Amino acid sequence: MSAIPPSPIQDALQILGRLGVAPEDLAGGDLAARTPVTGEVICRTPVLTPEAAARRIEAAHRAFLAWRRVPAPRRGELVRLFGEELRAAKSDLGRLVTLEAGKVASEGLGEVQEMIDICDFAVGLSRQLYGLTLATERPDHRMMETWHPLGVVGVISAFNFPVAVWSWNAALALVCGDAVAWKPSEKTPLTALAVQALFQRAAARFGPDAPADLCVLLQGGPEVGEVLVDHPRVPLVSATGSTRMGRQVAPRLAARFARALLELGGNNAAILAPSADLELAIRAVAFAAMGTAGQRCTTLRRLFVHESLHGEVVERLKAVYARVAIGDPREAGVLVGPLIDGAAGESMAAALSEAATEGGRVHGGERIDRPGTYVRPALVEMPSQAPVVLRETFAPILYVMSYRDLGEAIAAQNAAPQGLSSCIFTLNMREAETFLSAVGSDCGIANVNIGPSGAEIGGAFGGEKETGGGRESGSDSWKAYMRRATNTINYGDSLPLAQGVAFEV
Ligand code: NAD
Repeated sequence: MSAIPPSPIQDALQILGRLGVAPEDLAGGDLAARTPVTGEVICRTPVLTPEAAARRIEAAHRAFLAWRRVPAPRRGELVRLFGEELRAAKSDLGRLVTLEAGKVASEGLGEVQEMIDICDFAVGLSRQLYGLTLATERPDHRMMETWHPLGVVGVISAFNFPVAVWSWNAALALVCGDAVAWKPSEKTPLTALAVQALFQRAAARFGPDAPADLCVLLQGGPEVGEVLVDHPRVPLVSATGSTRMGRQVAPRLAARFARALLELGGNNAAILAPSADLELAIRAVAFAAMGTAGQRCTTLRRLFVHESLHGEVVERLKAVYARVAIGDPREAGVLVGPLIDGAAGESMAAALSEAATEGGRVHGGERIDRPGTYVRPALVEMPSQAPVVLRETFAPILYVMSYRDLGEAIAAQNAAPQGLSSCIFTLNMREAETFLSAVGSDCGIANVNIGPSGAEIGGAFGGEKETGGGRESGSDSWKAYMRRATNTINYGDSLPLAQGVAFEV
């Protein structure tokens, strides 16, 4: 391992200065920005009152009225410039993600790379916002659909992807002609400030076609998020976070008929079948279960191993779990950084003690004695899916269970209330295809011989059931950020009515 890095506080403040964050945003305020690396406060930053948040949303709406008139490929140019800013700032912003969210260095950089990737995707998309021409039953008529900008898109994001999730939404929303109002996690305000500063640089280079307040930042906790959720100028809220948050947000959006794009909790599973390539599967399981210290929505939490392999797999995983390097996420070689805060450590300890009460054999899971909240990832051999297994505990706990036949394993996997990500390790074509079929995994993401975490931006991302049903990022997710108009044009001189209806006046 490398030498001890400088204090995370100095490290973060220097980066924020280089990225152009205004000193007044770091000099005082009601929100303490902490680093999970040591648990210390980096600085305090201002939060908005609900009234100030509402004013910022109104300003974003005014920006939308101008932005929607800018041609889509030109809007793509702004996103291209923003992607350039991200490329130039990648090492600084990636390091800031490490300092504020606790991700190990390569994952911090990976998060910024994901932002760059979605910018590239959105630039291409800005020339591909296609509508269809449809067959019409009336002579001398043409029917088509047109996609129009929607309005201010509200984005509520979680601490564990403090910048990438915003960019999945914002890059698409901007090329679609929308303005963006972002309520980041109150646990990660500094990365949000840095991204906002980078966006402003791109907007300045773009010139006056980018209206002021096209992307606004709403710093604060749930009470500021609620302003976004309830604001009549916000036709779509894309909310990423816990299922608990989704339960609060979804009915309020429904009450005013706004669109909800929900990306909520996951409880992801893997099935390890008799023909699996064990070498590959053990590596995939280790990354998916321990990576990001178990704090990904797609983290592997439940592993169903065929009974013929159960003993061997548990022994091999125990060996990997015992040797994985845990520590300061900035240090080379460290694979597991800190949990976000002390509360996360407590909820992990509570889940492990509940699992033990339910007959689980717990390996690992101890707190590590150093500043910050560091834990050894836990492997728990469970006799069955007790209630604790069916809950999402946002920490590195992998519950391992055995199964006899594939139908039983698929049913057990689908028994969780969440439906985000899933996978099977098998070299048997029938098993793989069954898993991906209509009677297989019920999740939004289903993989073969790949763990459940680490999605690419090109696919639509999201999940079913208590995960909320939203899809964002690639494929045709852009359609959520636009409104569709069906247009029928009569170029004849008569007025035939559809379905043969007669109405002679
Ligand atoms: P959280 O639910 O505590 O907070 C998420 C965001 O919601 C924060 O910005 C918070 O301020 C805001 N919020 C909370 N209550 C609100 C309310 N009533 N109105 C408006 N806003 C409100 O989640 P967290 O601890 O930051 O993140 C971890 C959770 O997020 C896990 O459950 C994880 O699975 C989930 N997550 C899901 C995805 C996905 O794509 N499905 C991605 C990342 C994280």
